Amino acid sequence: MSKDYYGVLGLSKNATPEEIKKAYHKLAHKYHPDKKGGDSEKFKEINEAYSVLSDSKKKATYDQFGSYQEGASGPSGFGGADFSGFGNFSGFDFSQGIDLGDLFGDIFEGFGVRRGGTSSRRERGSDIQIDLEISFFEMAQGVRKNVSVYKNERCQACKGKGAEKDEDVEKCSYCNGTGKMERRINTGFGSFAQVTPCSNCQGKGFQIKKKCSNCQGIGVAKRKTELNITIPAGVEEGSVLKLENMGAESRDGISGDLFVKIHVMPHSSFKRVGNDVFFEKEVSLTDALLGKTISVPTLEGEDKLEIPENTVNGELFRMKGRGIKAGISRTDGDEIVQVKIKMPKRLSSRAKRLLEELREEGM
Ligand SMILES: [Zn+2]
Ligand SMILES: [Zn+2]
Repeated sequence: MSKDYYGVLGLSKNATPEEIKKAYHKLAHKYHPDKKGGDSEKFKEINEAYSVLSDSKKKATYDQFGSYQEGASGPSGFGGADFSGFGNFSGFDFSQGIDLGDLFGDIFEGFGVRRGGTSSRRERGSDIQIDLEISFFEMAQGVRKNVSVYKNERCQACKGKGAEKDEDVEKCSYCNGTGKMERRINTGFGSFAQVTPCSNCQGKGFQIKKKCSNCQGIGVAKRKTELNITIPAGVEEGSVLKLENMGAESRDGISGDLFVKIHVMPHSSFKRVGNDVFFEKEVSLTDALLGKTISVPTLEGEDKLEIPENTVNGELFRMKGRGIKAGISRTDGDEIVQVKIKMPKRLSSRAKRLLEELREEGM
């Protein structure tokens, strides 16, 4: 199916190049995945639309045939690029004369890249995944857990600078403090600017004469942190909870995310069925035949259940609201009790006599 590139940019088919550029500018700012409220899927769509509509040849093909296939003609455009982060802009096609500094000025500033390129980009701490085991009851009712995590935090001694004193930090001579190395690649279709982090300072833009003794110049140090994690009722075995900004902290004080993988321990007698819990209850033959109010274990202790007369083996009874608590599902599940009739192992002579009488009754 062909895509509506004009629609993606909110334009009519007779939009001028200026209008196309303006609409793209606005939407790219709005949906950039590194911005609050960003949307990487939308951002890709917008870029795809713009890569075609901003190129007069591609636009002509699209206008005529209603679609444009990347690779059909022309040099590589935006099509194959991944826009998930700053680092990937190096593959960008600059040959179209788009001023990225203008388009993404405030986004780049979010990474600490000032216009004029005199600074380095800011690092984000890494994401961490931990495993957390919870009991069946904790899963069913929800739980708060204290968890110890060893994770990097910005070094307190040097405030992440990695140096003993401010004077120990000096501008990287290799990249002259920009943290970047730029290379121009000439192809038959135009020239590309490829920007990579400086190999001498790893993009930091500075080097350290005397390293901080607390963090050995890394700017971060591992510390044990106590976290209180809320696990909602009804969490599935193997699911992963994302706790934003609770991962490792970088030297710049930006934290990654913490991912908590949940493992629910199975219970010996309760089984989960959706948001209901299933329990098998043995009852005697006479209780099943005559009916009785019996006591049944639930997630919140023993509860009463009325078994009517002539209950058959395998019959199911539903105890409303006795299942998994409203958490992820918003409504309480039920407990489903399956009756299992226990046949007597041995009969006393009196029991036999009574059964003989029953047989005479035709049962
Ligand atoms: Zn450098
Ligand atoms: Zn330090």
